[in-house]
Parts: sequence; structure tokens; C-alpha cells
Amino acid sequence: MPYPNNAEPATEFDRLVAIDHQHILHPQHHPSEHEKPLLWTKGEGIYLINDAGERFIDGLSGMWNVSLGHGRRELIEAATRQLETLDFATAYAGSSHRPVIELSELLSGVVYPSIKAFYFTSGGGEATDTSIRTARYFWRAQGRLEKSKIIARKLSYHGSTVGSASATGVDEFSDGFGPRLPGFLHIESPYPYRFVNPNPLKTQGQAAADLLEEAILREGPETVAAFIAEPVQGGGGGILVPQDDYFPRIRAICDRYDVLLIADDVITGFGRTGRWFGLEHWGVNPDIVQFAKGITSGYVPLGGIGVSARIKGVLDHAEPAKRWWHGYTYSGHPVGCAVAIATIGVLKKEGLIERTEKVGTAFLRRLQAELADNPNIGDVRGQGLLAGIEFVEDRATKRTFPGAANVGPRIKAELLRRGLCTRVLSDVVCLAPPLTATEDELDRIASIVIDTLSQPFDRFKA
Ligand code: PMP
Repeated sequence: MPYPNNAEPATEFDRLVAIDHQHILHPQHHPSEHEKPLLWTKGEGIYLINDAGERFIDGLSGMWNVSLGHGRRELIEAATRQLETLDFATAYAGSSHRPVIELSELLSGVVYPSIKAFYFTSGGGEATDTSIRTARYFWRAQGRLEKSKIIARKLSYHGSTVGSASATGVDEFSDGFGPRLPGFLHIESPYPYRFVNPNPLKTQGQAAADLLEEAILREGPETVAAFIAEPVQGGGGGILVPQDDYFPRIRAICDRYDVLLIADDVITGFGRTGRWFGLEHWGVNPDIVQFAKGITSGYVPLGGIGVSARIKGVLDHAEPAKRWWHGYTYSGHPVGCAVAIATIGVLKKEGLIERTEKVGTAFLRRLQAELADNPNIGDVRGQGLLAGIEFVEDRATKRTFPGAANVGPRIKAELLRRGLCTRVLSDVVCLAPPLTATEDELDRIASIVIDTLSQPFDRFKA
């Protein structure tokens, strides 16, 4: 194995890292962040353990997905049993299997009441692509050929495929890759801490929702297929919980102009916010829901979408030659479905959804109370076990630190030094611990965060 500078690696860690540097492209690849990567060897409950045997709290549940924590026997056994009985069979039309059937039945009992049928993918980006294609197909199949535009929001994240990156509102995911696909546009997010309300006669939530109506009218309702939104924005904006009147008004606007509402519940699904799915907080039903991550607690890849009876009806009544030509080899993979069934079983048996609302509220209140006096903390927000702490250089003007000050990476490194592994997305420390974390474990996480962030940030500036 060639080794940089022909030097012999001093340790096994060095050897593995050298191979890694030479042969792997990592998600959001940049070598400057990867000089000495964390090399994980084991997971146990809320902990990740590295090659040196050091234990870190998995403060983001992997990538917002390992909601039942690491090493759950029920999930491991479900995967093993499934591999031993039916490792793979296709779910293309004309073929089906018990795990995909049982999972769909279970899902229809926990998802939004408007959602009746499911299609499965390998992850969230494919789910976004599937939603977009399905929304467009739905209108075209009814002769409304012009209805193809997709409205999304700035600071949203919907995936990194060509389609889902076009829906994603964070420009970095498109800037270096050529233009977004035509027909995607982005309105401002309902970002309570920073949204500037242009109309004092409206609440902030109403004004933010009305940006959708303005965009639909500007583009022409006959050209708009769907509006896609995360119930609580995750990776793009750093945990943005909308105002209570935002989504009900969005639903009404979508209905007024015949625009489908797509809920991207990839992070917020399966209990993360203290409800099975995010829009339940506001009593809103989408036409399409997309999910991934928590459906298998991240143990094996699985995602998907659910659609309303109206959409399913259009697919069911198409002429065979004009069918919904959409298909992935791994749609409804039996092992993914088996693990999802086990995951939903644990969420129900342990009452984790209700518990998340209760412990999440206490977790957030403590962070809010104990970080309130630090002038560098601008906003502490969250829902369920999803929390974001936004820091600022100046609280009065909400001015952020200059990028060159490198505050975010320094905070991340300090949290890690204290045993908490999590993500800092630009100016927001994100927390999404496993839903199975005990109250003592949640207290420990909150204490690490408070000890790290409760004093002014001079020491984090470059
Ligand atoms: N939608 C949302 C809301 C997400 O947070 C993510 C991933 N973070 C995706 C879609 C894309 O999912 P995946 O990485 O599985 O493609």
C-alpha cells in the first residue's frame, strides 16, 4: 500500500487514515477537516467509541438518524432474521413480500391521516426526487402539463442528488455544480429569530406564509406543482421551528391554488420532535410526506414517501403505457423493511414519542434558562429532542461572527474535548440525542453544552 512521502505509518490508526486519505471521498469532502478523522469502532447506547477506546456521546444520533441509540438487539435480530429468510426480492409491480406489506400497514397507522400509500427508497435524497417526480406526474396525468414548478425555501436541505439539490435552498449545494434544474424557486424561511416582517398588520408566521402565495401568483398557479418544506428545518438553517400559524396558512394557500404540499419529514419523522411526524404539531396534513433516517434508526438505509388517496387514485387509473415510470432496485428492500418494522415496534412499546415531547421540553428549557445571560447566545430553540443554539458576535444587532474567526469549529472541538460529539452548522450548535437517552444522560449532555457555552465567547475567537 503506497503511503504518503513513503514514510512507514507509525500506528494502525495512521495506516488506516493514510488509506482513507488516498481512497475515499467523504460526504462534503474537504481534507482540511479530515486530517485526523475520528475513527469509530463501536456504538453502545448513546455512545460512540473510537479506535483508542474513548467514549463520546453521540449528540446528533449519528446523522440525525440513530434515534434508538446504538446496539439495540431488536433491530439487529430483525435484520439478521430477514437476511436468513429472504435477503432480497424486488418490489416491482407483479412482485411483493411480507416485510414491505407489513411495514406499509404499520406506517398507515402512524402517519398523517391524509396519507394512504407508500413507496420506498434508500434514503432521503431519493425520497425528495420521488416526491418531485410524483407531484409532476400527478398533474401531467390529469392533462395539466404546465404544472411543474417546485417552490422550496431558502436554508432548506432536501438532499444532494441533482433533483433534491435543486430543491435545497442552501446555495453551496448548487454553486459549484452548475445551475439548479429549471423550475425550482425559493422563498424566505419562517426563521423566527431573523425573519423581518414586512407587514406589521400580519403576524410573522402569516407574513412568512404569504410569501408562498406571492410566489405562486408571480409564477402563475397553473405552472406550480408543489411546495416542499421541512416541518422543522434541520441541516440547512440549524433547527428552525416555524411560528404556530405558519403551516396552517401554508396548507390553505396550497389548497387555494391547487399546489401539492410535500412535508420533508426526513429528520422530523418517527418521533424526533415529539410527534410521529412534524406537521402534527399544527394539525396540518400534507399531500406527500417523505421520510428516511429514523425509520430504521439508521441501522440500514431506507427512506420513502407516502401519498394521499387522491394521488394514489391518479397512479392507479393511468393507462399501462403512461404509468408512473419510477423505480429503484432497492425500493422496499426486505432487510430495511424488517428493521423499520422493529424500529416502529420499539417506538410504540416504549412510548418514545410521548416521552420525547416531555423530556425534550425540559431539556430545552434548561438550555434556555442557563444560557440566557451569555451575550454571545442569540437564540435557543427546538422541538422534542431537536435543539439549536445560535450564537452571535453582537446580541443587539444579531451580527454573526466573521467566518475567519472560526468560532463554530472551535466550539465543536471544545464540545468534543468534553466528550460530546455533535455538529455546528455555521452559527448554530445542533443537538439531536437518541430518543432513548435517559434523563440523566440528557442532563449530562445539557451540562456539557452549558459548561462550554455559558461564558462570553472571547476564547473561541481566532
Ligand atoms: N431531507 C432532509 C430534511 C434531510 O435532513 C436530509 C439529510 N440530512 C435529506 C433530505 C437527504 O437525505 P439523504 O442524506 O438520506 O439522502
